[in-house]
Amino acid sequence: MKLYSINTGYFKLDGGAMFGVVPKSIWNKINPADENNLCSWALRCLLIEDGNRLILVDNGNGDKQDAKFFSHYHLHGDDTLEKSLARYGFNKDDITDVFLTHLHFDHCGGSIVREGNLPAGQAGKLVPAFKNATYWSNKAHWDWAVNPNEREKASFLKENILPIEESGRLKFIEVKNTDNKKLGETIFTENISVRFVNGHTQAMMLPQIKYKNRTVVFMADLLPSAGHIPLPYIMGYDMFPLTTLNEKKSFLREAVENDYTLFFEHDRVHECCNLEQTEKGIRPKDFFMLEEIL
Ligand SMILES: [Zn+2]
Repeated sequence: MKLYSINTGYFKLDGGAMFGVVPKSIWNKINPADENNLCSWALRCLLIEDGNRLILVDNGNGDKQDAKFFSHYHLHGDDTLEKSLARYGFNKDDITDVFLTHLHFDHCGGSIVREGNLPAGQAGKLVPAFKNATYWSNKAHWDWAVNPNEREKASFLKENILPIEESGRLKFIEVKNTDNKKLGETIFTENISVRFVNGHTQAMMLPQIKYKNRTVVFMADLLPSAGHIPLPYIMGYDMFPLTTLNEKKSFLREAVENDYTLFFEHDRVHECCNLEQTEKGIRPKDFFMLEEIL
């Protein structure tokens, strides 16, 4: 079992939208905005080498939308999915499983490419980018994503989603215990269980990995960055913010009790942290890189 951090680049999102009800005078100290109020965020995925499976958790924005679409997101940095996989001696064809926490474009856009890698805007057939992989979602989230509400519609792009099903490579993870106050949990492999959370979007999945005597939790958009650990810091993007609040509370309590390692998908600076109880509430204890876990 080995874990690798796979950075696919950085993008920008409105700081106010990212921090919800927290005023700019406070969040701007955590993640300073540019002149357009945009902050820089990572698109950091996780690669899990587990026996003979090579599981990629999320896959960034991809590159098939047109320049107008990407102009809203100011992609920057030199890292790409291909380069980050190659750094560890892998390529896309080696991936056996693509685990999609949810189907927002910044998490699943790399799933599908235009056949022949035609430039954006040209009508190439949309095919799986990982041609030997099974793609994992769950039925509740899939149904939610293919029939999106108007507020969330801009995040669920049909061209990222429908071709996965058409390729015949889509499988659903069974959702268990979603009413359980301790968060739903189900088994993916012997070393990976899955938590289900419903505040950010319907049935988002967080892989929770047993690794070197620790538990590493891929935070996806429950805690997109370390700056989102204090309880009121909940994204304006969330569909059900009070559900997120309860999910954060119970997760953070469990994480501090069991000394979990949190792995952040969108934190521009911090890759991982553990937690401690302070008089202000639960806060990061130490920040570290995934490869520092021995
Ligand atoms: Zn999201």
